[in-house]
Amino acid sequence: MKIFTIFGDPIEHSRSPLMHNSVFKALGVKACYTRSPLRDGSKLRDVFFAKALSGANVTVPHKEAAYLQCDEVRGIAQKIQAVNTLINENGKLIGYNTDADGFINAIQPFGPIQNALILGAGGTARALATVLRQEGITPTILNRSSGRLNFFRENGFSALCWDEFTAKPYDLIINTTSAGLSDDELPLPRSLLKKLLAQTKGAVDVIYGKETPFLQEVKILALPYKDGSDMLLEQGLLANHLFLNKLHSVEQIRPLMQKSFLY
Ligand code: NDP
Repeated sequence: MKIFTIFGDPIEHSRSPLMHNSVFKALGVKACYTRSPLRDGSKLRDVFFAKALSGANVTVPHKEAAYLQCDEVRGIAQKIQAVNTLINENGKLIGYNTDADGFINAIQPFGPIQNALILGAGGTARALATVLRQEGITPTILNRSSGRLNFFRENGFSALCWDEFTAKPYDLIINTTSAGLSDDELPLPRSLLKKLLAQTKGAVDVIYGKETPFLQEVKILALPYKDGSDMLLEQGLLANHLFLNKLHSVEQIRPLMQKSFLY
């Protein structure tokens, strides 16, 4: 029996166990996907091997810590320097980032986009900024504090704190902060957020499973929007494809994983 898990804090809200176990069951794969609450991200690698895991996902706030503890990092995760998928490859910890491509797949319905404002500067913001730029879309990063902006500045992104920022039009506003995840906070001061939403064409909140205060403000203006469910599905599909050693195609896995969203 292969064991997979998701590491994070908080983790109770995660739909990943349901999504991955649905696929394993439907394909007759002897595997089980659990939840692993983890407070101290620096312990991730030790816990991974102590549990004899075949693979794992990593969520808030440990994606950067996971990157640092991998033996090898592959694909776009090298540029992002944050990892959301881990594979045990012959005793070596291999890191990937499926959030990036998952997000691009999820925003296709918005049509052509020239620029985007990313709220937040954590692991998810890194993934989205990197992949948006790769897709020819110009991202700007806006965060409440400056500590996490260095990565973006060093990599040539426009990255600002609230007090350095002036509102202007963006095609898409994306909330990647954890504001609203387990509280009722907005990711920005309300007046600044209202100014930005009045000038945008659409909005995405990467949080899923609840209507965040951010999305409530978006809905008042009747803007096109998405919560994080489609991104969750898309990043999960790509992770499951890796968990199963690419033996099944993403298109084969998709309907099986989609079914878990009906529960
Ligand atoms: P991190 O912990 O790495 O980063 C969190 C960011 O949120 C930081 O920039 C932090 O700012 C900011 N922040 C936290 N609280 C507030 C607040 N009250 N007001 C303003 N800013 C705040 O998190 P991740 O990037 O790993 O994840 C972020 C969110 O994305 C989570 O809610 C996670 O569940 C969701 N997610 C969803 C996915 C999906 O598939 N739908 C995939 C990946 C993530 P500061 O630097 O000032 O502390």
